[in-house]
Amino acid sequence: MALDKQQITVLGGGIGGLAAATALAQRGAQVTVLEQADAITEVGAGLQIGPNGFAVIRALGVGEALAQCSVRGQGMCLLNGTTAAPVFQLDFQRFAADQHYYFVHRADLVNVLAHTAQQAGVEIMLSQQVADVTLQGDTTQIQMAKGEVLTPDIVIGADGLHSKLRVALNGDRPPFFTKQVAWRTVIPATGDEPAVAKVYMGAGRHLVVYPLRGGTMLNIVAVQERDEWAAEGWNFQDDPANLQRVFADFGSEVQALLARVQTVYLWGLFRHPVAAKWHSGRSAILGDAAHPTLPFMAQGAVMALEDAWVLADSLEKADAIETGLRNYQTRRHTRASKVIDAASKNARNYHLPAGPMRLAAHAALKLGSTVAPSLALKKFDWIYGHDVTQS
Ligand SMILES: Cc1cc2nc3c(=O)[nH]c(=O)nc-3n(C[C@H](O)[C@H](O)[C@H](O)COP(=O)(O)OP(=O)(O)OC[C@H]3O[C@@H](n4cnc5c(N)ncnc54)[C@H](O)[C@@H]3O)c2cc1C
Repeated sequence: MALDKQQITVLGGGIGGLAAATALAQRGAQVTVLEQADAITEVGAGLQIGPNGFAVIRALGVGEALAQCSVRGQGMCLLNGTTAAPVFQLDFQRFAADQHYYFVHRADLVNVLAHTAQQAGVEIMLSQQVADVTLQGDTTQIQMAKGEVLTPDIVIGADGLHSKLRVALNGDRPPFFTKQVAWRTVIPATGDEPAVAKVYMGAGRHLVVYPLRGGTMLNIVAVQERDEWAAEGWNFQDDPANLQRVFADFGSEVQALLARVQTVYLWGLFRHPVAAKWHSGRSAILGDAAHPTLPFMAQGAVMALEDAWVLADSLEKADAIETGLRNYQTRRHTRASKVIDAASKNARNYHLPAGPMRLAAHAALKLGSTVAPSLALKKFDWIYGHDVTQS
């Protein structure tokens, strides 16, 4: 079905919303994005975009722009948090030539996507907060916070964790606190850091660090298992001393990083179920609105990018909007659920307590990545080797 002249409203101008808007506009649709923020902006934090996400970025025509504002990742390394001894390594240089892995500042990715969306004819409307969404038969009614009521023909909900359209489709199912919190911060780099994501592991904790913006800054995400609740959201500041105290027994590499932290945000990790229903009539959800994930596979934004591409492709190939949206969920539900399960299990692997179990697990990991580095990478082929733009 040609998308020419189809009018599509996308709720949310984050990574998923802007990618979907671009993919739809590039197929001829007339797309409007309603974003609640008063500027297209993002929190100051990093993202890892694996080759499966980069495949979508490249197909949208933004590959070169992304490459220019990010750091091309050379590998990933799990380390003992106390001694900094390597436990497991993935060598990204063993990827196929067209498989690129990037470390990017979120704001840079959002800016690149917003620019491309506008070039494709997308209208991005700011300060447009959606207060509520109701589904009445095939009509989607959007109540704006400023009072206006909209009934767009086709609605895509890319409105993130607290999606109004997900609630309209599935009811309100509250998430549960995973008893894990994450601090995030960016610090200036010294310039000597390798283009590698390092994961320092300890009992009930891990800390991830990788370079951003041509290696001028470092992104840090530090996770702790704990009973004490923390709010779910990006903008809750914490005292850097709390982060430093929790990782005080980690080795000198980590201490040197944490000593440079001036501002830090704390965020409670909640587990949301994957939504059972992603579409109804002429509306659908994507990205975190459909399937929020824990960050332990660095695939949340990447899944939103894959969704965006498959949504546009499914609509283009179907003979009716409703069929296209149904096909979109069929093509995406199993894969997104599998990646999210893998992310949930990863925290356990990173957080093993000291003792024989950890010694055995780390020894096996070390052996695997030293003796057969290509095989170690191959284990992740189902994630990184998946190219939705070729299906
Ligand atoms: C610490 C951390 C590290 C992460 N690291 C990675 C990583 O390395 N790689 C990776 O792939 N993923 C990572 N993720 C996950 C990733 O950030 C999310 O999965 C991704 O941002 C989801 O994109 P989205 O577009 O679906 O939602 P969002 O990015 O949340 O965008 C939603 C947009 O909708 C807007 N919006 C929300 N509600 C409304 C409303 N009512 N009205 C109008 N607009 C609205 C918001 O303002 C926002 O612009 C990480 C997450 C965290 C927390």
